[in-house]
Amino acid sequence: MNGNDTPKTEADGSAERNVRPLCSHCRFPLPSNTSGLRHYGLHTAHQESECLQLLRAEIERLREVLTRLQQWADAYPLDQFPEVLRQEWQQANEVLAQAGLSMSRMSASNMRHVLNGARKMLAEGLGPN
Ligand SMILES: [Zn+2]
Repeated sequence: MNGNDTPKTEADGSAERNVRPLCSHCRFPLPSNTSGLRHYGLHTAHQESECLQLLRAEIERLREVLTRLQQWADAYPLDQFPEVLRQEWQQANEVLAQAGLSMSRMSASNMRHVLNGARKMLAEGLGPN
C-alpha cells in the first residue's frame, strides 16, 4: 500500500490505468460504488465492520503463509536427520570429488531450491504491491 489515500496508477503493459482509492482506515481499495462509505473531511473509509472483515481476512491469509514457512523450517528435525559432522562432510566431499561431482554445486542447488520455495511463499504474503 502506498501510504496515502490518493489513487495510484500502475502499468498494465500498454497503458496506465487508475486504481481505486484506498480506505483511510484499513488501506484496502474502496468499492467503486460509494454508497455506505464513511467520509471524514478528505478521508474516506469502509463501514467499520467491512474494515474489520478485510483486516481479519488479511491476517488469516498472512498467517497461512507464515504457517507454511514454519512447516518448511520444521521439515528436517534433528532427531530424525542428525547434523552432519565435519568429518562426514569431508568424507562426502572426497567421495563426490572422486565421482567428478562438486559438493559446493550440490549444496548451492539444494539451497536454491529451498530459497526459491521460501521466495514464492513470501511473494504470496507480500502480494502484488
Ligand atoms: Zn476499510
